[in-house]
Parts: sequence; structure tokens; C-alpha cells
Amino acid sequence: MADIVIIGGSIMGSSIAYHLAVAGKAGDVCVIEPDPTYEFAAAPRSSGGVRLMHGLAENIEMSVYGQEFYRDFANLVDVDGEPGRFDFLEYGYLHLLAGADDVGVAEQNCALQNSHGASNQMIDRDELKRRFPSMRTDDIDAALHGPQDGFVDPYAAVIGFRRKARSLGVEFVQDRAVGFETDATKVQRVVLDSGKKIEGEVFVNVAGAWGPEISASIGLKFPVEPLSRSTFYVETREELETMPLTKDPSHVSFRQEGAGYTVGLTEVNVPGGFDWEVKHHLFDEIMWPAVAHRVPKFEALKVMRSWSGHYAYNRLDGNTIIGNWTGGLENYYFATGFSGAGLQKGPAIGRAMKELLLDGGYQTIDLSRMSYQRVLDNAPLQELGFSA
Ligand SMILES: Cc1cc2nc3c(=O)[nH]c(=O)nc-3n(C[C@H](O)[C@H](O)[C@H](O)COP(=O)(O)OP(=O)(O)OC[C@H]3O[C@@H](n4cnc5c(N)ncnc54)[C@H](O)[C@@H]3O)c2cc1C
Repeated sequence: MADIVIIGGSIMGSSIAYHLAVAGKAGDVCVIEPDPTYEFAAAPRSSGGVRLMHGLAENIEMSVYGQEFYRDFANLVDVDGEPGRFDFLEYGYLHLLAGADDVGVAEQNCALQNSHGASNQMIDRDELKRRFPSMRTDDIDAALHGPQDGFVDPYAAVIGFRRKARSLGVEFVQDRAVGFETDATKVQRVVLDSGKKIEGEVFVNVAGAWGPEISASIGLKFPVEPLSRSTFYVETREELETMPLTKDPSHVSFRQEGAGYTVGLTEVNVPGGFDWEVKHHLFDEIMWPAVAHRVPKFEALKVMRSWSGHYAYNRLDGNTIIGNWTGGLENYYFATGFSGAGLQKGPAIGRAMKELLLDGGYQTIDLSRMSYQRVLDNAPLQELGFSA
């Protein structure tokens, strides 16, 4: 028996557990997580980017808290001197824009972002060339630059939250949720792969791309599905200036990673489902030509490693769905649909879920517009610009 049973213990589950534990509830929380190494979870396979470059106030505010939290992470989750160093690498974000429509959207977003605490700038082609001389800019009309943005080690973020939550008394159970026992109004127990059942007052499904299938078993359907993404770590012999995480108009993005760079492609108009195969043909046909076009020094690069990971992709609008099953089994909570931007929202979702569970509603960032109601209403909360 636990008051609060969390299903999935990666960035969301561990951050929720941490925020509940700091609020004094550690002894009442149990996290079900099958894999303490997080081999297949999205978080450690992500780019770890934390940007204020969003088109909705809620998303900007969640990332403002994400940046604050990750900048002070080592201190906040310290357990006997661990994790020691945890760097927020403030290399910035850069969204390259081609065409008047994209420039117009970015200008509007930039104003919104700055009204929520960002110091983003629209820069013209000459300024772009001056700041990043290795980039080809003749086919770029403008760029949105977020100098305060950056990235973190996403695996260290998961482990940091988990370790701190455990040190405060949260129990992590190594098992897998396979179903629920319910009555007419509530979930009573979660059934585990081992055959064990855990009773609870509330249940929180944050099992990432696996989560919607678990919810479907009790009749709650999400427009969210796994979306496979391949990432390539490359090295180049030639030296470049420090590069921000750059998103190209081709939807290819790249960022520095240790001695090299990671390269990814955001393609959302493709079929969903788990697919662990790394798409080498996408690298050869789209990603490499795109990065070599943008930064000619990338013509001579070598792929050193590659991996695949999955977005929990929200087909309705690419955005977070958070809350409880209002009008259904009301003690069933969820946070899903983070698509390509959940790592940065981890701290804010942890705090938001703690507010829903302990404080009776949102106290800091009002995420009401991100409830399940918009799924029922088929009313997308669309974010334009640098999304997914
Ligand atoms: C290639 C790529 C790049 C990305 N880049 C970024 C980025 O730059 N910035 C950013 O903010 N976000 C990024 N993301 C998105 C981010 O990784 C996710 O939004 C985030 O990790 C979601 O966290 P989560 O805890 O919901 O899910 P996950 O990290 O996927 O964790 C889900 C957990 O649930 C567990 N689980 C599964 N089934 C069960 C079950 N039946 N019972 C119990 N537990 C279960 C799994 O073992 C896993 O640990 C990226 C994602 C990908 C794939």
C-alpha cells in the first residue's frame, strides 16, 4: 500500500517523486520502474536541450524553471557529495529561418519568450555570419538566437533525481505495471509483472512512450504514440567555433557533444510505433548533406556512434497532456505527450504534479490548458515555430 503510486521512474517519475519527497511525502510514495539502468527510456537517449524557445507561455515558463533547476542541480539533488559536478552547458540555441512566414512566426515567438524572461534575439544574416563564421548563411533570412539556452547530461539528470528521492525515503520497486484493478469510480491496485499488486490512493502514469498503452487497458485513450528518432554522434577533424544547438530549416539539428557533435532529424509525418532500428539511410541521404551544406567543415565527418530513441509523440498537437481522468477514474493521473521537449520540462512537471496531488491545484505555472479536456474537445493547443 502506498498513498501515491508512480508508474515509470525516468525523468518525470523521479522528478515527481523528488518534489513530493521534498514536500515531506517521501514515505507515502512508491515508484514502479522496471529498469534501473534506463536503457530504453527516452530521457538518456535525448539531446538534453533546455530552451526558452517555445511558442506557448506554459512551455516557456516550464523551461524557465527547468533552466533554474538544472543550473543548481548538483546542489539541489546532492546526496553525500553526489552528483558532484552537473553542468548546464550554456551554448545557446539557434533556429535558422528561411522564408517570410517562418521569420514572422519567430518574431512573434521571440517577443512572447522575452516577455516570460528570455533574452532571445532575432538576428539578421550578417550578424549570423559574424557570430558563427563557419555557417553558410546565403540561404537564411534570419535566425532566432537564445543565448541563455543550453543542454545537460540527461542520464545524470534522471539519476540525480532518482538518487535524491530515494535518499529522502521514496521506495523504487523494480517491476513493470501490466494492468489495474478498478471499481466504478477509482483505480484500486496496479498489477505488476511479478504478480504483485500494489494498492494506492492515487496512481500517476508517467511511463513515457509506453504509458498510453497502459492507460488504454482501463479505457483511457491518448492521441500519443511512440515515434522513433535516430541520433548520430560524429567527429570532424576541423576546428569550429563554439556552436549553439542549431535547428536548420531542413529539420536537421546538431549540437556539440564532447569532442564532436550529435546530429538528429525531426520527422513527424511518418508512421508511429516502437522501432529500434537506427536509420542510417536518413543520415546518408538527409542529415549529412544538410549539416555539410550548413557547415562546410562537416563534409569530412566520421560517424562514431548512433542510437535510436522514442518520443511519446502527441498527434493532436505535439504538446504535454497533464492532469487526472476527470469524469472517469478520478484518482488516475498522467503526464504524457512531451514529444521532443520533455527533458527540459522534467523539473516543472515534477512540481506541477506535486501541486495537483498535495495542494489541490496548480500554484506556480497554470497548466489547465494542457489537461485531457482538449483531447475530448479535439481542440489542439498548437505551438508554432521551434516545436517537437
Ligand atoms: C532523440 C530524442 C531527442 C530528444 N531531445 C530532447 C531535448 O533536447 N530536450 C528535451 O527537453 N527533450 C528531448 N527529448 C524528449 C525527452 O527525452 C522526453 O520527452 C522525456 O524523456 C520524457 O520523459 P518520461 O519520463 O516521460 O519518459 P522516459 O524517459 O521514456 O521514461 C519512461 C519510463 O517508463 C518506464 N516504463 C515503461 N513501461 C513501464 C511499465 N509498464 N511500468 C512501469 N514503468 C514503465 C521505462 O522503463 C522508462 O524508464 C528527446 C527525445 C528523443 C527520443
